[in-house]
Formats: sequence, structure tokens, C-alpha cells
Amino acid sequence: MIDVSLRTTLIDLMLDLQKELGLTYLFITHDLAVAKYISDRIAIMYLGKIVELGEKGELFSHPLHPYTQALLSAIPVPNPERKRETVELKGEVPSAINIPSGCRFHPRCPKAFEKCPLEQPVLVDVGKQHLVACHLY
Ligand code: SF4
Repeated sequence: MIDVSLRTTLIDLMLDLQKELGLTYLFITHDLAVAKYISDRIAIMYLGKIVELGEKGELFSHPLHPYTQALLSAIPVPNPERKRETVELKGEVPSAINIPSGCRFHPRCPKAFEKCPLEQPVLVDVGKQHLVACHLY
């Protein structure tokens, strides 16, 4: 949450140190643009659970989980002529002390179906080291 110009300098410094010292970072952010810039692999979390995990190129080009799709569709496109469909989510993020049954995302998911409130999906490998927790896969 620091000034944008300083943020870029710090992130570049972190990347230089990573190369020099062979470091691994666990970088937690709400900013997907920064996540894409700094990361090799990205995990998307919803209410404390990882719902999707993959190599950044794969995750950004083929987002599978409806929450990831909604997050990516909300990233502004810096080109007024390029139109992108936005996925709107209904409702608010539920309280962490009152977690929804089954898939935690089901009250807000545009693709929810009968099984979703009943059973919690587990992460499954769909190939290319891409994992998703959703009953659609
Ligand atoms: S399991 Fe169901 S509610 Fe959860 S993300 Fe998938 S389709 Fe949506």
C-alpha cells in the first residue's frame, strides 16, 4: 500500500535480490497486476482457502474458477477500444466466522448448481500444474 513509484522500485529490488541470492518469496497481495509482475506461480484464495493455483501465464490466460474469472475480468484494460466482458458477483463476501456450507463461494457464484452448497470441492490437477477447486472440473 505504498506510493506507486516507490512500490515499483521496491519490487524491482526484490526481483534483483531474488536473482542474486536465489530466494523464494511468498508474496501476498490484493493487486493482481503486481502479482503477475512479481510471481512465477499464483494462488487465488477465497475465504481462507486456495481455490486456484497455477503458473501465472496459464492462470491469466485460462482462469478456471469462477472467482478467478471475476477477479481477472475486473482488472482495468488500458485501451478504451478493447472491450472485455466483466463477471459481476452478487452479494458481499460472507463473514469469516459464518463460512457458507459446501463450496464457500456458492452464495456469490454465477455458475453454482445443486451440488455446490452440499459438498466442499477439493483442488484437482487439470494439467500443466494448474489446480482448481470447483465441482465443474
Ligand atoms: S463449486 Fe460450484 S459454487 Fe463453487 S465455484 Fe464451482 S460452480 Fe461455483
